[in-house]
Amino acid sequence: MQALIKQLLAELGEDPTREGLVNTPKRVEKALKFLTSGYDANIDEVLNGALFTVDYNEMVIVKDVDFYSLCEHHLLPFFGKCHVAYIPTTKVIGLSKIPRLVDVFSRRLQVQERLTNQIANTILDTIQPLGVAVVMEATHLCMSMRGVEKQNSVAVTSAMLGTFRSNPKTRSEFLELIKLRATSVRETSASVDFACIND
Ligand SMILES: [Zn+2]
Repeated sequence: MQALIKQLLAELGEDPTREGLVNTPKRVEKALKFLTSGYDANIDEVLNGALFTVDYNEMVIVKDVDFYSLCEHHLLPFFGKCHVAYIPTTKVIGLSKIPRLVDVFSRRLQVQERLTNQIANTILDTIQPLGVAVVMEATHLCMSMRGVEKQNSVAVTSAMLGTFRSNPKTRSEFLELIKLRATSVRETSASVDFACIND
């Protein structure tokens, strides 16, 4: 990987041997390996020991989870807040594991829509709740740095499963509780285009 990065620096018109860049290939490799370390994570291991049987069927919400991911179209960061809710049947996930789950899927090359769906579907498969909702609000550097959209534009994606899909009251209760900065929410499953402009 380091040889490729050195070559990339040269292709960009840089001198890879100058002082400031001489260790850059090593650093970039290390950074990229960390930023894509989610591929190696085992979801069962991540959640193992943190599933609890409860007699509770009200909405569980974990909001404002920071996440950082890399857009697969441009290899540039997109980052923001993730909000997760579910209504348990018999099992809950330890609260600290929700941010960990978000990290596992964020540390891959991603599109925001797929990331949102993967988090929601994993919770659905793991604890079979009555419903799961995931909303992600993100700034995409591939858009803001290139001036594709206004600097402050935030892409919002959501995955609503089970009761969050079928019951508008449950859904709006959740949306009210997380108080989105953005006004409109994109339904990921119905969308064919991407938050990150595909060019
Ligand atoms: Zn992009």
